[in-house]
Amino acid sequence: MEPYYILNHLGEEREDYFNAVTPPIFQSSNFCFKNVEALRNGLKNEFETPFYTRGFNPTVGILRKKIAALEKAEDALIFSSGSAAISAAVISSVKQGDHVICVKKPYSWTNHLLTHLLAKFGVECSMVDGREIINFENAIRKNTTLIYLESPNSMTFEMQDLEAVAILAKKNKITTICDNSYASPINQNPITLGIDIVVHSATKFISGHSDVVAGVICSTKEKIKKIFEQEFMTLGATLSPNDAWLLIKGLRTLPIRVKQVTENSFKVLHFLETHPKIEKIYFPFSEKNTQISLAKKQMKPCGGLISIELKVDNIAAVERFCNHLKYFIIACSWGGYESLQFPICALYNSENYTTELPWNFVRLYIGLEDADVLIEDLKQALEKM
Ligand SMILES: *Cc1c(COP(=O)(O)O)cnc(C)c1O
Repeated sequence: MEPYYILNHLGEEREDYFNAVTPPIFQSSNFCFKNVEALRNGLKNEFETPFYTRGFNPTVGILRKKIAALEKAEDALIFSSGSAAISAAVISSVKQGDHVICVKKPYSWTNHLLTHLLAKFGVECSMVDGREIINFENAIRKNTTLIYLESPNSMTFEMQDLEAVAILAKKNKITTICDNSYASPINQNPITLGIDIVVHSATKFISGHSDVVAGVICSTKEKIKKIFEQEFMTLGATLSPNDAWLLIKGLRTLPIRVKQVTENSFKVLHFLETHPKIEKIYFPFSEKNTQISLAKKQMKPCGGLISIELKVDNIAAVERFCNHLKYFIIACSWGGYESLQFPICALYNSENYTTELPWNFVRLYIGLEDADVLIEDLKQALEKM
């Protein structure tokens, strides 16, 4: 389906709501029936018709159709956070005594889910370097039921050959999940490469405006229905109709936002690559990245997140660089209109966090500002470092 048809028209039954161009926010927890027979019928399909908003809400339903189509999936479910979507997808794929293979350095709370929370219920997890298919092969056990991927991941951007992992998993009757937040549905569609379930933190590119926390799962109708009946309805991480409306609004501009972010990222990359104070750059499409051919094979050129290591010998210098940036806001998250920076040195000497990343590591998110403005900002902050 053509992407602009999906974004501007799919799921929008305008004649059902006074021909309003923009869909209404159905801010209602429940939906009524004119008699007992109608109620009985309504109860038959909470998955696809309005009955109670934890299950189905028409505004959320519009978003669900668009997300599924963008990911080239049969259906989707929308959650109140990316972590809720990931938890539901993972829990739906394991039972007590099962074994999971996960790529090293997944998103922090995905790591917590797999190594702490699921361990309480007797599910074991092995973390492998996902850059080599042989590492997955070697980690497979008789009780392996799930391979969890994140390609690229959101700090250092290691990738997995999604097609090769999907073939290996199918051969061994193992479910595959891929976190596709980095590329967005515009630049990579893991389902077309054979992956079973795609998850997103919709908080990032899909929202695009730093105003909603949300998550999605995309898969076959059969798998989505099963997750709906079990994890979705039970754990109840429902997105509010108002937030669904904001996400629909964000989606209208998703292609032009990721296009601008990508163009900016390549310009900023070029500047950073030639700067003497940059020790190391992490970016999937950097010519120096050993995985660039894989990036080109399975993704369209994309960007947003670029990480750097600064060539300095003390944390104070890193902090001087960060504190002098005017356009890059110091904050977590990414995928919005505004450029951001996340300096890893903030995790040093912290009681709550540990990290394997070095203290001179800074993750940048390249927003929608003019690339020249961002480059000037980086240039002056590097001088003051
Ligand atoms: C932010 C993020 C998540 C978690 O999503 P939330 O919406 O914050 O719950 C998961 N995966 C990746 C790659 C992320 O960046």
